[in-house]
Parts: sequence; C-alpha cells; structure tokens
Amino acid sequence: MRDGFARTIEYLRISVTDRCSLRCRYCMPETGVPSLSHDDILTYDEIVRAAGALTSLGVRKIRLTGGEPLVRKNVSALVAMLAELPERPRLVLTTNGVALTEHARELKAAGLSGVNVSLDTLSEHVFERITRRDGHLLEKALAGIEAAQVAGLAVKLNCVPMVGVNEEELSTLVRFAAKRKIPLRFISLMPIGCAAASGLIGMSEDAVRQQLAAVFGALEELPNEAEEDGEGDVPTGPARYFALPDGSRIGFIDALDHPFCTGCNRVRLTAEGFLKLCLQARDGLDVRALLRGGASNAELRAAIADAIGHKPQEHHFGHADAAADARYMYQVGG
Ligand code: SAM
Ligand code: SF4
Repeated sequence: MRDGFARTIEYLRISVTDRCSLRCRYCMPETGVPSLSHDDILTYDEIVRAAGALTSLGVRKIRLTGGEPLVRKNVSALVAMLAELPERPRLVLTTNGVALTEHARELKAAGLSGVNVSLDTLSEHVFERITRRDGHLLEKALAGIEAAQVAGLAVKLNCVPMVGVNEEELSTLVRFAAKRKIPLRFISLMPIGCAAASGLIGMSEDAVRQQLAAVFGALEELPNEAEEDGEGDVPTGPARYFALPDGSRIGFIDALDHPFCTGCNRVRLTAEGFLKLCLQARDGLDVRALLRGGASNAELRAAIADAIGHKPQEHHFGHADAAADARYMYQVGG
C-alpha cells in the first residue's frame, strides 16, 4: 500500500520482546530498565493477526527484532506461524548472535530466510566495553554466525562504528566478513534513547569510507539493486553498497548524513503492539487496543491503512522536536 507521500509500504519490523541478553551502551540503559510484563506484550497469535492485516495490505518482508528476539521463548514457532500467512512474506531476523547456535537450524526449518547479526568488534575487551556483559559471549556470537551459515540462512553483519571504541578494527571486520562471504554494513550511531547521553561518538559514513579507502584502495559505489543474498525483488533496506578493489561489498546505513526517508518502505510494531510509523516520531496506532478490544479483521485493516496514510514525511534526528519518541532503541527494534 501507499502512504500519504506515495511511498510503497512493504516492510514490517516486529519487535517480539524488549528484553535482552546484552546491555549495549547505545541501545539500553545498564540499570532501571522497565521491563514489560507478560500481559503487556503481544502474544504470538496477536502478532500473527497484526502481521496478517499488514501482509494483506502489501507487506512482503517481515523482520523479527527486539530487544533480543532469541530470548523470547520459542521464536521459531512464531516464524512458522508467520510463514503460513497467505501472502508468504519473506521472514528475516536481527540478533546479537549470542543464542544463534542453539536456534539456527530450527529457525531455518520454520521458514526463516536470513539473519542480520550485530557485530561491532572481534575483541572480547571491546565487546565488554560496548555491551557491559562478559566478553566470552563474543565467542558465542561468532559461533552463532557460523551456525547460521551452516544452517543455510543468508547472513549479514551490522556494525556501529564508534570513535575510539571499534574505530581501529573496521578493516579487520571487513576482512572477517569478506573471508566468510558475508555482506557487512556499517550503521551510523543514531541519537536515540540512551545513545545521546552515552558519550559514544558515532563515525559518519564518509569517515568510515575514507578509512577503508586508505587501507584497501578506492571504494566504488554500486547501483542500488536487489541485495546479493537471493532476495530477488523482495524489498530491500536503506543500505548503499560499495565494492572494494578485491571485489567484496560493504554497505552503509547512515540515517543522519544520507537520509533515506524519501524511499522509506517500512513500519514497525513494538512488543506491546504499537504500530510505529517512523523510527524517530511518536506517531502511530495502538494495535493492541484494537486486537484486545474485539476489532474485526476488516476494522483492523482499515485502522492500519488509515495510520499508514499519516506516516511522517521524514525524521528530525538531531533537532529538538516535540513529536520525537522517547522510546529507546531496545524498545523499538532498530
Ligand atoms: N538485539 C538485536 C541486535 O542487537 O541485533 C536486535 C535489536 S537491536 C535494537 C537492532 C540493531 O539496532 C542492532 O544492529 C544495533 O546495533 C542497532 N542499534 C541499537 N541502538 C542503536 C543506535 N543508537 N544507533 C544505531 N544503531 C543502533
Ligand atoms: Fe540488546 Fe541488540 Fe540493544 Fe545490544 S543492540 S542491547 S543486543 S537489543
């Protein structure tokens, strides 16, 4: 379906939990995290009903996220339920990788196509600094990446480059990904929730590109085409891809310096069932109230279509904005 600015909305990100096994400084506070209760979050049946309304309106790709989606019990069952939707959406998941080894095979069997694994560092020490959790969990995340590849899931890596944190490691991460033939994308730190007060300084796309060019040689921008993991014509994300002289591909997602609002194709469903129309803005629809208030499928569809018609034109990151959402990234799902 089209929003009020004639953008086609075909990608839904569903946060299945606000809980997480890590406490990344740019995403989640160390303490005082107000966790949603069991009754607050949507059940799998409710998620499938909401997702079904959206797929019937044109959503073709669904990403499960969180918090950490793999800490919610039996996420594979949800994948299997979503895979049964008549429109057969493409199903993918974003994870910190820590519990991926245990789940990769069952996720694939349930109908998941791919996983994006967040990997900011290959150093246990830096991992501890970023995640505030035991550095040995990095080993589990790395094993999870391998397990996902073995299970036949399409894997991508996401890295948030930060000045003085993982800045020195970016070329090492590029080599790590290239060796395994995994696309790596650098995601610019966004000033959301605790990121702004974390003291972390994100590196811009231009700074990362300059650094990589100094190590590997000039980067060549690639045409914006369907991504390389077999997605075909299924809606892709906002990454811009570049080729290194050795042929490996690097992506950049930079919402600040290279905004992609004009081509935005997504909406988000939070764990408590709020349909968020823009990552930064508060605008949206309380889908849980509709689901629990007895709305029919037709009423649900109509309310969602109406809300999407009011999707904001663009984000206002970096500006004081009365309409800005106070949610943290772990509550929204990235
Ligand atoms: N726990 C999973 C994970 O870490 O992949 C999924 C949820 S996490 C919120 C999704 C993505 O958001 C991760 O790749 C993470 O690096 C990214 N993220 C979190 N806070 C961010 C911020 N302030 N700026 C940019 N990316 C952020
Ligand atoms: Fe957890 Fe992912 Fe946020 Fe890190 S980025 S705290 S792994 S939800």
